[in-house]
Amino acid sequence: MKLYNTLSRLTEDFRPLNPPYVTLYCCGPTVYDFSHIGHYRTYVGNDVIRKTLTYLGYKVKHVMNITDVGHLSDDADAGEDKMEKGAKKYKKTVWDVAEFYTDFFFKANDAFNINRPDIVCKATKHIGDIINLIKKIEKKGFTYMTDEALYFDVTKFDGYDRLSGQNTDEKKQAVREEVVVDKNKKHPADFVLWFKRTGRFKNHTMHWDSPWGDGFPGWHIECSAMSMKYLGDQIDIHTGGVDHIPLHHPNEIAQSESATGKHPFVKYWVHHNFLLVDNQKMSKSLNNFFTIEDIKKNRIHPLAIRLLFLQTHYRKEMNFTWESARSAQEAYYRLKEYVSVLKNQSERVNLSQEKMEKIEKFKQNFVAAVSSDFQLPQALAVVWQMIKSNIPSADKLDLLFDFDNILGLGLNELETYTIPQTVNQLAERRLKARLEKDFGKSDELRKKIESFGYTIIDTENGFDLKKRN
Ligand code: AMP
Ligand code: ZN
Repeated sequence: MKLYNTLSRLTEDFRPLNPPYVTLYCCGPTVYDFSHIGHYRTYVGNDVIRKTLTYLGYKVKHVMNITDVGHLSDDADAGEDKMEKGAKKYKKTVWDVAEFYTDFFFKANDAFNINRPDIVCKATKHIGDIINLIKKIEKKGFTYMTDEALYFDVTKFDGYDRLSGQNTDEKKQAVREEVVVDKNKKHPADFVLWFKRTGRFKNHTMHWDSPWGDGFPGWHIECSAMSMKYLGDQIDIHTGGVDHIPLHHPNEIAQSESATGKHPFVKYWVHHNFLLVDNQKMSKSLNNFFTIEDIKKNRIHPLAIRLLFLQTHYRKEMNFTWESARSAQEAYYRLKEYVSVLKNQSERVNLSQEKMEKIEKFKQNFVAAVSSDFQLPQALAVVWQMIKSNIPSADKLDLLFDFDNILGLGLNELETYTIPQTVNQLAERRLKARLEKDFGKSDELRKKIESFGYTIIDTENGFDLKKRN
């Protein structure tokens, strides 16, 4: 298998440290508000990595953190804690906010058919591990203290710029323009390991005792502490969105490598590109985001969104439009329809040598695509070629279900979602007629839908279709 490594900026052969085992750490969500489909582009991407590795025979241990303390509204330690911000906005306690949005995150996670990581770990449940790690870093001489916080001194760490490719001194220039939060911070790239409960954080709700005073951890340290705890000092693959390349991930490397003295902390760094709306990053702050609820309200199946994500390579930006979601949905229903048709013709027939070779070739091409830095668009092209080919139905079905171990489109899950495209289109037309109060036409379309063996139920957001028994 080959994968692109942000650290070397090269596509490399994948050689895990301890085959067949693979350690995979994925930076998780900050649970202060609704997660949107931009986040899920990254998490579907992580899921594809995990499913591909498993398919190829590796034994994957997958860990993801939940950030429930310490992530400030500005990633460079400025602003307020996102959790406190969420609590104020929703008039709840920080703990309730964390619980509510973690649940929301996983509900949508399941709807997109994303495997839950083997270990999901919350920062607030690992304060002891975090403190121990900071103590190690301090002992090795990489920290300094101000009245407000304990900082990591990036100038003491060789190679801080390695992952980002940015010159730290240039960063100094750029950041100088910004509001200086802590006057005693030595270098703009220095980052907080431990915040004291003082000044702007005097009333911070979440706080713990520590050798540096009552306070709470900085955002970056949790990932170093928890990946070390569950996966060891050095790991195979670490992922996140491209926004983590300039700051969060260099900070993780600095913390982990300074504590253990082992290099590299991570062998392969994988970064997912953004989901955009009108060519801007989908994000809370731009208020241009859609959640799973918006997807459902627009009568788009979550797995059609998963298919939409698979249609663009993970390292390319992807612009979201409702039109693209609808065409992904058409393709998704077409796939599901193929499955139900194939299931009805799945008698085994003896294979000629030529057909056997064809089947083998489809499988090889699919595996070659996914093993080549997760080329899912190419893998999907193989799926469509295979469906259109003349290999027997039973073998097509075998291949589809086999490929779905990576695609994760629930192709073998029946029956509720297998609404034929024609029926869906009739239902859409009926909804339009109903909204235009053309009830004659609406009734006529209802009868047509029923003639296909489906019942249509009007709902708050449109309609539901059920197969009649
Ligand atoms: P956060 O909760 O902000 O820490 O984000 C969780 C993960 O989602 C991070 O790895 C981000 O890089 C990723 N992410 C956030 N917004 C987007 C987006 N619009 N497209 C893709 N990934 C995103
Ligand atoms: Zn992280």
